[in-house]
Parts: sequence; C-alpha cells; structure tokens
Amino acid sequence: MTMTLTIMGTAAAEAIPDPFCSCRVCEVARREGGRHIRARATALVNDDLLIDLGPDLLTSANYARKYLGNLKGLLVTHQHSDHWLPQNLYWRKPGFTPTSMVPLTVYGPADALSELTPDLADSAHFVWQAVTAGDRWTVGDYTITAIPATHGGGYLEPLLYVIERDGRRLFYSTDTAPYGERAWELLRDLGPMALIVLDATAGERSGGDGHHGLAQFLETRARMIAEGILRPGYTQLVAHHFSHNGGLTHDELVEAYGRHDVAVAYDGMELAV
Ligand SMILES: [Zn+2]
Ligand SMILES: [Zn+2]
Ligand SMILES: [Zn+2]
Repeated sequence: MTMTLTIMGTAAAEAIPDPFCSCRVCEVARREGGRHIRARATALVNDDLLIDLGPDLLTSANYARKYLGNLKGLLVTHQHSDHWLPQNLYWRKPGFTPTSMVPLTVYGPADALSELTPDLADSAHFVWQAVTAGDRWTVGDYTITAIPATHGGGYLEPLLYVIERDGRRLFYSTDTAPYGERAWELLRDLGPMALIVLDATAGERSGGDGHHGLAQFLETRARMIAEGILRPGYTQLVAHHFSHNGGLTHDELVEAYGRHDVAVAYDGMELAV
C-alpha cells in the first residue's frame, strides 16, 4: 500500500441533510444520522496531501480524527465555495496555531487562487501555485497530473487530479459531468488507476452538464474500461459527492450502486491504494 485516501466529506454544496430542507432524503438523514449525514467534500491522502478546502474542513478533520499539521500540499479543484473556502487557512497561521509548520504550497486553477484576501496572499506561510489542465508536477513523493473537468458552465476553470506514488495512481474526480476528449487523452496516457473516486452528485436524476447521475456514472465507467483507465479486478471505483436533490438516501445509494458493484463513499471512509 502506498497511499490511503480518507474521504472526509462527501456532500455537494448544501450538505446532507440540508438544514433548510424537509425533503425525504434530509428527513431520513436527520432521523437516522450515521452515514446519512454528509459534510461538504474534502479528502486527505495519507496525512500530508489535502484535496479541497471546503467550509466543513475543520469539523470533518476532527470527525475523522486527522491531524493536518503535516500537509505538504493542498490541491484545489475549483472555486465553488463548497470546495474552496480559503479563510480556513487563517486558522493555520501563527497566533491561531502556535506549533510551527513549514509553508504550505497550494495548487489550483488561477481563478480560484485569485480570490485570496491580501493577508493570505502575502503571507509567508503559504506558496500559491497556479496550475492548469495537462500540468504535471511533484509534491514530496507524489506526482500530480491536472485533468480538465466538465463543470461550471464555462465560467470557471475546474480541475481533477491524478495522484501517483510508487507506480500506483488514484484519480480524484469531482465535480464533473462526463469528460471531454482532452481529459480522455490525458487519462489514456497515464494508464490504469488503482482507485477512482467519481462524481455521483445527482443520484437517480441526470447530472446535466456539470455532474453525474447514476446513468452517466455507468456510461463513464464503461468508457473508462474501454480506454484502459479502469481495469476490472484491479481498479477500485467509488461513487462520491452527493446531493439530497438526487432523491436517494445513503442506503438507497448503496443499493443502487451496489447492483453495479460500485462502492458509495461516506464521511470518514478510508481507502487503501
Ligand atoms: Zn461540489
Ligand atoms: Zn433535502
Ligand atoms: Zn462545483
């Protein structure tokens, strides 16, 4: 095993339950608790590479009992505020966190990194590194490749990340609708993934042009197999990033995806790569 991915938050923007909502999915989540409760998406590779910085980051890290003081890098997928709340980084600065830490390098699309307030942008505790689709770089022992997502309607630059260590690759793939040809080209060049965590936001409904529902998820999986990115018997595939608007409770998602041998992420899920 070369990597462990902890999916600390697994919800879309409104969380589950959406505290303002009385739909069936939210009511079941409030009543049952446990895996029905989802915070906004954030994931951690081992203890030193964080993916996304959503509004629930601190609570989710504590729920998963993770220490974030060893981070070598942070990968930001896109500027939507359920994935990118840069103010979370204030609490890592001296004055709030007295234990000393090396500067953290934050990698993300230029439009997301341009949203910083001056006291973060100019802080000696962070290095801001804009990346774009097709870029490949290293963070410690990890080699990262940025893949273009299909998300945001053309108004922002959304990225997905392939993270590789010791010849094993994991593909963190939310938020996105089915990929464009440039993404397939980059993925094809990388070859089979040991783990794919794929957007499944819309449940039984269509994910439209920004997300996947179950039907699109299965189409993307079929193409991944055809392209040699998902190798049956080798690749773990996990459905991730859910909205109550998808109409399925956690248990119903487990049943619906389980019929196709796909695991469903829950907050705190740990996956060995
Ligand atoms: Zn999202
Ligand atoms: Zn709801
Ligand atoms: Zn988004």
